[in-house]
Amino acid sequence: MLVFVVNKHGRPLMPCRPSKARKLLKQGKAKIVKYEPFTIQLLYGSSGYKQCCTAGIDAGNKNIGIAVTTDDGRIIYKAQVILRQDIKENIETKRRLRRSRRNRKTRYRKPRFLNRKRKNGWLPPSITARIDAHYNIIKKLSKIIPITNIIVEVGQFDTQALINPNIQGKEYQNGDMKGFDSVKEYVKIRDNYQCHYAKLRPDIPCSGKMTVDHIIPKSKGGTDNPTNLVCCCEEHNRQKDNLLYKEFTGKNPPAIRNFKATAFMNVLRDYLVPKLQEIAPTEYTFGLYTRRKRKEWNLEKSHINDAIAIVGIKPRQEVSVSYYIKQVRKKKRSLHEEIPRKGRSKPNRDAKRNEKNIKKIITNNNCWCLWDKVYIPSIDKIGYISGFTGKWVYVQDIEGNYLRISEKYKQINPKELQLICRNNNYISQQFISTL
Ligand SMILES: [Zn+2]
Repeated sequence: MLVFVVNKHGRPLMPCRPSKARKLLKQGKAKIVKYEPFTIQLLYGSSGYKQCCTAGIDAGNKNIGIAVTTDDGRIIYKAQVILRQDIKENIETKRRLRRSRRNRKTRYRKPRFLNRKRKNGWLPPSITARIDAHYNIIKKLSKIIPITNIIVEVGQFDTQALINPNIQGKEYQNGDMKGFDSVKEYVKIRDNYQCHYAKLRPDIPCSGKMTVDHIIPKSKGGTDNPTNLVCCCEEHNRQKDNLLYKEFTGKNPPAIRNFKATAFMNVLRDYLVPKLQEIAPTEYTFGLYTRRKRKEWNLEKSHINDAIAIVGIKPRQEVSVSYYIKQVRKKKRSLHEEIPRKGRSKPNRDAKRNEKNIKKIITNNNCWCLWDKVYIPSIDKIGYISGFTGKWVYVQDIEGNYLRISEKYKQINPKELQLICRNNNYISQQFISTL
């Protein structure tokens, strides 16, 4: 457990032990500035020693893994972030509603048809949102932890380097996966570690470790290009020897396409890495190299452990806190109900904002906002306010399951709640784990 510390001027210092934080708070030498993650601000000038803190980011479409490690292998922060997946759908809904509104007799809207030019470097909103999320999370983190450098994993392989060896990433040039080894690994993963000849030559049973086979044998002029390689077992590889594909299988060789580097991963490298440079010097790496490290350290596969391996500093075994963070939608600005709400006694003619879309309610001078983290004493559970119904609220846990007190109603009276903290677009929960 660590408490994050910022100095008098709001600049990040190294985190401290809770006991020290408690002492500082008691003596009035510090104040609490944030509950999630718990951060205090010193009220006196402190030079504060700083270590090198490297942030590793396992970038992704749905999940981000983050780990911050000091030079001596202390993990000071680790988190898994779940990103929103509803951007595309929302944009499409918006578009559909606008289209239908234009054909209806509604309030006047200036004609807009000559403003449809896409700017240079335009990206689909769903991707922009993801890149922004990566950036914003690290930016926020850099305000409580003195991050000195960042390493991002931008995909499994340096596909560009494999196909065109003139373009080379840092690891590709310096790492031990140089040359053919790296191509082999690439082909095995591309083919899912399945023997290519297992079905084509069932008379020969598969045996031995997986290796790669040249479709056109090297002795007959075949190259080491991934398009000329398939994954196969040692036995099939031995039997094929330097026969041609047709001689061995009786079929024409398949057209093997290159591993499709997910478009998003390429975009990450081109857009996210330069953006992160604003925060701290940023490098990128590939899953191929980090996977090895993770296995070497006996860490199981998870987004957080991937991030730890991305940093590349062997972590110390100690009990620590991981954060499970979920990106949520704070604003719903729809001006009208697309589907009239069930149970409305009168049609919604006065275009009053949908009650479901309000951001907060006030009861007995208590304000309850969307995504407030709350504690429900009667069932001893922690949840997040996910919606409102008049004067009551809906509460969900971080997985999105409704927490309820009564069998009959999903909604909960705010009297039953205790506020823990307010949240913006990210809700988070802590887990204690041993690494
Ligand atoms: Zn085989």
